[in-house]
Amino acid sequence: MIEKMGAKPIFPAGRESAGAGPGAEPFPCIVGIASLDSGPRTGAEGGSSGESMPNPKRKLAKSWRGCRRSHDHVHVVNLSTCPRCSQPKMAHRVCGTCGYYKGEMIVDMKKL
Ligand SMILES: [Zn+2]
Repeated sequence: MIEKMGAKPIFPAGRESAGAGPGAEPFPCIVGIASLDSGPRTGAEGGSSGESMPNPKRKLAKSWRGCRRSHDHVHVVNLSTCPRCSQPKMAHRVCGTCGYYKGEMIVDMKKL
């Protein structure tokens, strides 16, 4: 059935065209078929290439999501007191108020 359906339009047209003009009309017939075949294929390929974005294979469960986000919380910074100006400062860092660290002036706060 498929062969007959495919053969009926092509062969009579080719033979009739061959009888009318030899070698000229089979070419457009083939080109027309090729263009019909290639048209949707190229469109499908273009669509598939556009849709081929990397996506997760399946939905992530809430428990997995929670486990991943368990480390995302904000940490509380432990502040120490500056021995020079007695202002709160971060440990092992230059004092933001006086600019001193371990009794030495690292940043001159008067110039700033
Ligand atoms: Zn200080």
